[in-house]
This record gives sequence, structure tokens and C-alpha cells, in this order.
Amino acid sequence: MRIAVLSDIHGNRPAFEAVLADVDAAGLETIWCLGDLVGYGAEPDACVELARSHTDICLVGNHDMAVRGDLSLDEFSRGAELAARWTQDTMAAGNIGYLETLEPKLVDREDIGLYHASPRDPVWEYVLSTLLADLCLNVQPHRLCLVGHSHVALSFSRGEGETATGAAQRAGDELDLSEREWLINPGSVGQPRDGDPRAAWLVLDTGAWTATFRRTAYDIAAAAAAIRAARLPDSLAERLEYGQ
Ligand code: ZN
Repeated sequence: MRIAVLSDIHGNRPAFEAVLADVDAAGLETIWCLGDLVGYGAEPDACVELARSHTDICLVGNHDMAVRGDLSLDEFSRGAELAARWTQDTMAAGNIGYLETLEPKLVDREDIGLYHASPRDPVWEYVLSTLLADLCLNVQPHRLCLVGHSHVALSFSRGEGETATGAAQRAGDELDLSEREWLINPGSVGQPRDGDPRAAWLVLDTGAWTATFRRTAYDIAAAAAAIRAARLPDSLAERLEYGQ
């Protein structure tokens, strides 16, 4: 099975729509989303509705949990907090109701574990170092786990008796997942932070056991204009242009 793995949409409708078109063009029929449908971006309802109609699996992320009232906003940065309050006030009740049905992890599959943030802490931990990756690989029940949350496309892996190694992943990079333990982040659709402003996602092939990192160009100006029109912090619009 070939699966499109998406994460961290963050209310960016132009990015989400462009990725869904790319997923369709690639002939992929299964879509998994690792959470954070909303927060930061100006079109949370549209993104939740696209997720409802297109994803086969969808997790909840920390920003979604803040909007549904499960997490204190004190733990968020100022921009994220303002965006979360705005999102709460703006969103249709039915779409917040959908967020309330989602979980931050899905571990009942035999082959692959899915977490918004990490196997150790599905809601908050940012896995950006090999040290943390080792700790996660020690506890994860699956040989392959997928995480989002850090907005950086990367992979960590470990062979028998080794410590973890990690690598940032660029467009077109392909991993052979047939051996070793893996922790993989597809990057962010709606707010990439690895210097490439294009929307990030991943094709996972569970037949060939490969992962291929993808980037999709989208109308960044439209997403930035929507953020400004909603009177959200200007920095949230600016960072989209730099992929930071
Ligand atoms: Zn996020």
C-alpha cells in the first residue's frame, strides 16, 4: 500500500489543497494526517473539512487540543496563543466537534505506530536530536514510527546494537525501511520550518518498505494574505515565505 503521510496543516488551506492535488496526481488513495489541522493559519474550518473528507487516519495535535480546550494556552508562544484564541472564536462548532473525536496517537496497527509528537510524549515532545531519538526508539513498540510536530522533515534510524543516527530530508530523498528501527517526520504542510517554504509530505510504501520525501509548491502569498486579513500576527504570514 502506498500512503500519503501529512502533518501540521495549521489552517493553511492553499498548502493543504496543493498537497491534496499532488497526492491525487501521484495516484495515492490513502492519506494519513499526524495532527495540528489548525493554529497559526487563517482557514481552520476549510482545513478541518478537507481533513474530514480526505484522510483515512487523522490524529489530533497540541494546537488542535488547545482549540478544543484540553490544553492550557500558557504553554504556547505568544503568536501561537493569539492564533489559538482566534481559531477558537472563529471555528464552526461542528468542526471543533470533529477535533474532539481525535487522539494524539494510534498504536493498534501491527506494523507502524503513529504519534503527533513522539512515542514518549504524543502531544509535546520535539524529536530533533539523536539523543531524544534514541530514547524514543527505546520505548516505541513498532519498528517504524511516524511523528510530526517539529515541522522539520527528517529521519532517525538505528541498527541492532547501535545508537541512532539522524538526517534532514530534502525533496526526492528516499529511504529504504526494510531493515533497522525508524522514526520519521514528513515535515509540515502548512508551516515548514526547515528553510524550504514548500509544503512538506511523505509517500510511504508498505509493500516496498520505502519512504520518499516530497515538497509541493503552493500559493504562499494567498496564505499570507489570509493571515493578514484575519489580523493575526504579521510574523505568522512572514515566516511562510522563508519556511521558518
Ligand atoms: Zn504543529
